[in-house]
Amino acid sequence: MKSFGVSLATAAVDLSDEEKKMAARKASGEGDEGSPSLTAEEREVLGGLDSRLFGFVSFHEDGARTKTLLGKAVRCYESLILKAEGKVESDFFCQLGHFNLLLEDYSKALSAYQRYYSLQADYWKNAAFLYGLGLVYFYYNAFHWAIKAFQDVLYVDPSFCRAKEIHLRLGLMFKVNTDYDSSLKHFQLALIDCNPCTLSSAEIQFHIAHLYETQRKYHSAKQAYEQLLQTENLPAQVKATVLQQLGWMHHNMDLVGDKATQESYAIQYLQKSLETDPNSGQSWYFLGRCYSSIGKVQDAFISYRQSIDKSEASADTWCSIGVLYQQQNQPMDALQAYICAVQLDHGHAAAWMDLGTLYESCNQPQDAIKCYLNATRSKSCSNTSILAARIKFLQAQLCNLPQGSLQNKTKLLPSIEEAWSLPIPAELTSRQGAMNTAQQNGSDNWNSSQTVSHHPVQQEVHSWCLTPQKLQHLEQLRANRDNLNPSQKLVLEQLESQFVLMQQQGLHKGQSSHLAGPNDEQPLFSTGTSQYHQAASTGIQNQNGRCTLPSNSLPQRDAVNHLSSHIATSGGQQGVTFTKESEPSRNRPLVPETSRHAGDTSNSCADVKRLSNHVHQVMADAVSSPNHGDSISPNLLFADNPQLSALLIGKANDNVGTGTCDKVNNIHPAIHTKTDNSVASSPSSAISTATPSPKSTEQISVTSLNSPHSGLHTINGEGLDNSQNSAKVDLPLLSHKSTPQIIPSMSVSIYPSSTEVLKTCRNLGKNGLSNSRILLDKCPPPRPPTSPYPPLPKDKLNPPTPSIYLENKRDAFFPPLHQFCTNPKNPVTVIRGLAGALKLDLGLFSTKTLVEANNEHMVEVRTQLLQPADENWDPTGTKKIWRCESNSSHTTIAKYAQYQASSFQESLREENEKRTQHKDHSDNESTSSDNSGRRRKGPFKTIKFGTNIDLSDNKKWKLQLHELTKLPAFVRVISAGNLLSHVGHTILGMNTVQLHMKVPGSRTPGHQENNNFCSVNINIGPGDCEWFVVPEDYWGVLNDFCEKNNLNFLMSSWWPNLEDLYEANVPVYRFIQRPGDLVWINAGTVHWVQAIGWCNNIAWNVGPLTACQYKLAVERYEWNKLQSVKSVVPMIHLSWNIARNIKVSDPKLFEMIKYCLLKILKQCQTLKEALLSAGKEVVWHGRTNEEPAHYCSICEVEVFNLLFVSNESNIQKTYIVHCQDCARKTSGNLENFVVLEQYKMEDLMQVYDQFTLAPSLSTTSS
Ligand SMILES: [Zn+2]
Repeated sequence: MKSFGVSLATAAVDLSDEEKKMAARKASGEGDEGSPSLTAEEREVLGGLDSRLFGFVSFHEDGARTKTLLGKAVRCYESLILKAEGKVESDFFCQLGHFNLLLEDYSKALSAYQRYYSLQADYWKNAAFLYGLGLVYFYYNAFHWAIKAFQDVLYVDPSFCRAKEIHLRLGLMFKVNTDYDSSLKHFQLALIDCNPCTLSSAEIQFHIAHLYETQRKYHSAKQAYEQLLQTENLPAQVKATVLQQLGWMHHNMDLVGDKATQESYAIQYLQKSLETDPNSGQSWYFLGRCYSSIGKVQDAFISYRQSIDKSEASADTWCSIGVLYQQQNQPMDALQAYICAVQLDHGHAAAWMDLGTLYESCNQPQDAIKCYLNATRSKSCSNTSILAARIKFLQAQLCNLPQGSLQNKTKLLPSIEEAWSLPIPAELTSRQGAMNTAQQNGSDNWNSSQTVSHHPVQQEVHSWCLTPQKLQHLEQLRANRDNLNPSQKLVLEQLESQFVLMQQQGLHKGQSSHLAGPNDEQPLFSTGTSQYHQAASTGIQNQNGRCTLPSNSLPQRDAVNHLSSHIATSGGQQGVTFTKESEPSRNRPLVPETSRHAGDTSNSCADVKRLSNHVHQVMADAVSSPNHGDSISPNLLFADNPQLSALLIGKANDNVGTGTCDKVNNIHPAIHTKTDNSVASSPSSAISTATPSPKSTEQISVTSLNSPHSGLHTINGEGLDNSQNSAKVDLPLLSHKSTPQIIPSMSVSIYPSSTEVLKTCRNLGKNGLSNSRILLDKCPPPRPPTSPYPPLPKDKLNPPTPSIYLENKRDAFFPPLHQFCTNPKNPVTVIRGLAGALKLDLGLFSTKTLVEANNEHMVEVRTQLLQPADENWDPTGTKKIWRCESNSSHTTIAKYAQYQASSFQESLREENEKRTQHKDHSDNESTSSDNSGRRRKGPFKTIKFGTNIDLSDNKKWKLQLHELTKLPAFVRVISAGNLLSHVGHTILGMNTVQLHMKVPGSRTPGHQENNNFCSVNINIGPGDCEWFVVPEDYWGVLNDFCEKNNLNFLMSSWWPNLEDLYEANVPVYRFIQRPGDLVWINAGTVHWVQAIGWCNNIAWNVGPLTACQYKLAVERYEWNKLQSVKSVVPMIHLSWNIARNIKVSDPKLFEMIKYCLLKILKQCQTLKEALLSAGKEVVWHGRTNEEPAHYCSICEVEVFNLLFVSNESNIQKTYIVHCQDCARKTSGNLENFVVLEQYKMEDLMQVYDQFTLAPSLSTTSS
């Protein structure tokens, strides 16, 4: 090892000797047959090289020898594989994958890893493999799969030596996926870790600050950036980037004082940034934008000019130059600048729109239409409907014109086709030079004399002509008229007056119809018959970015290369590039960014370019658009990745001679060419045969790779915003193997006694071997279930809801009711008329009583949009989405009660008004109903939902809580048969009551209960609620939908689109809950609820003592762990309490609990002994009664028995708990921590041994 220099030595990982020998044996055993062979020394060295060294091997100086060795090893392995006709041990492929990864030959690494995956059933135990695979996926921007692989690594090996690198990359990917909470969590986990990783702390902190900015938390972002500037020895690139961000933020946001102050701050920051890094084209561009906005036109031009000099030509910059020229009434120059922009980036919607506006202002509607059409076809177009209306209007105008009237007119500007072929950039460049000269002469007329236009340019910029952006802005301001700040009001006034002007100019009809909101966007009819038009537009449209513009109409620039800036314009983004640590000589900007053209609020476009020496693509980092969730399109860019392109177009086999033999390629599923028909017979079919179940429909995606075009389509067309599709690109498809069982089913008899368990553990520690199968069993990472097979027929997708009608108290206590509810076949049960049957006084929970009882009590408020019926639309009402707006704040019961009441009165008033209006207009009824049917949805009214009101306090809510004791035991808040009553402490809202206060439209977004516990919900009334319910076994399908919509199934607010569910054959139970009805949500059932009327609800969770409940709770516990989400129910703690408190007679339930105890017992023993043998003292701490379960303060995993508390926290007796892994991340040898022990080993052993299967009579404990 020592011969590999410092970088390798420091990053050395300790592979066990065993593994090294194994690798060496393999290499030598098969290496004797004439192929290039490896010496013993080489083999030894290679045995120590795997994915964990990725990013830490320098190939310079000493590292060059490593590179040579790796190359030799690859050739050697490949030739061996060829000789053995692929029949080698699976580990062989894994190592080949590692070697190729370290050589950054990603396609070969992927192939080898895939081979390993298909051969090795328990591949998931191999953390280095999963890590390598994750890195390859990350390289290909296949984030969906990279996330899964990385999560698996941390799940199977929480102490993985590259955990920090994984958290960093997870943070980046979740950021791109707009899952900001997860992103922040992972960045923070990366930050606390003092192990090495490819980014510095400062860079990680930058990402956190930028994450705030991305989320529009500008003040937090500003604070974080400013704090970062205080850092000592802040690397210059980070500093320049931070200053740049601050500058741009000040330009766009109301952070300080008035507009002038903001701009002066912005300019100062940007100038400081340029002092640190004068070569940042992006900073120059931003500076130009700032100057432009304060009217310093010449400074703006100079800055843009610098920007173009310093960086690659940027479409944004050219677009801004165009705007500037247009403002200066130089339409020809503006035209040329816009043409530059769209030639650089065919999908630059803003430039197309501006160009269209320019043409309109010069009375060339036909050209304008073409530009608008191109804009609408761009993925980055945010106001398609407005543009469509505009196009329609112009087309209508054209139709009304007398034949030929346009043709005969002299055009101000060359047509779009002519303009496209003008050699613009050079001319503009020279003119820019001249401009500078003119300026030096102090001349103000620098512009007029420099016009290259051959046409007589008349200054005809029509001020009445509102751009589509402005129209949209106007509309938004109008909708929000009551909540505008002074500057917004001013803007509104200006826009209103412009709009009036526009109407006077005869645009009224077209525009107002748009503003009224036509929802029906007719297919755009094409007036343009010119070849160019069609070609250009289809070119733009074609799979987003892979433009195939006709060769005669466009300089052969590779459109793909400009995809980055195209994407960057999609929604206010920010670029982040990583410094490449291994190439310190290269001065790479941390954040070379392009930003969007005028009109955006949150600028920034993030190109995460090259993470260390690994990420070669630009990965645009999409930022939430104003319409949360609708235009978010993080994108995959493979532009500069010839390997993948080759892979996708099926030319990988052309690489023969570069060391890869055909044989090798043929056995790799990813590299099949279209002509290779050997799919079925090739070893790649191992993937398919591994999962013969017809359930795994995704297998189709494996074969779809064989069609190069489908692959191409996927990557360019869909990108990350359809993460499912990345499955088509990337093979191993980890989730295809059968869903692992978290709790293996086994017979009771095999459970050893505690002494045996611990004895085995002890031996395990000593020689690493054990004859006990159970103890060696690692849990495979959990997977969401695939969609149940066979799919339900469409007519079974609206099943009737299981309902029970109660007439009297006896009915309510009838034992089969309990069994009916907890029967796994009934995802939900509505118990009708429960309150009446039990004579419950629901009035105790009425708003009036609540106010009288505790008017100052806190209410969590969710501000939501009042959506139509069962649908969920984006805020503009343009399309149905899954993301559900639900922002949280707080108020009091008294205030919410007031809101609830006034909302009711207002509605009564409206109702009356409608009634009178209806009378007045009864004649026009047909037309009015027609209008309403065609009306566009939205903008929506805002409503407030008072939720999660805590009724746990027995003193404050004595009467209310007492009333609930009248319920039958199985639905009661507290009962012996309720698992949650055995937790031993309060879990708010779960084993205590919560109240919800609603107005019509109040929505509880889709979810499963915490840890899949059952829930009980009683409607107090007076209004009804509507429920939507999906059985537990479909949660994987909903999880997929959430992922596709860039939502976190566990953490985000989402409202399923019923049409999507119908398409996917997901059954949905749907029913009305009337006052007095109790809804029982069974374990794991997915549900979402909306209020139809004004009503209150009370709800809590229960955990029936059933195998199904326990199993689902543990499964979710594990899934939460994989997803880095806290499990609100501490299942380990609860399992021990169950063992202490309850006699379990259900053999299945018993087995599962016993198995969990066994695992924990083993873990406690192993950990304690490891600590002691490392000389770490374990301090007895014990437990107090009702002491809550503990969670790691860093990663939120449950910590049982052995608590890691920092010395400081221990002295202060604050006892802030860490898990072992988090403790080790901050203090490798734990010297800063004390380990507190809460249970005596003997105690746990006794509980374990005494927990036995009870005779079956005692089951009915309720
Ligand atoms: Zn932790």
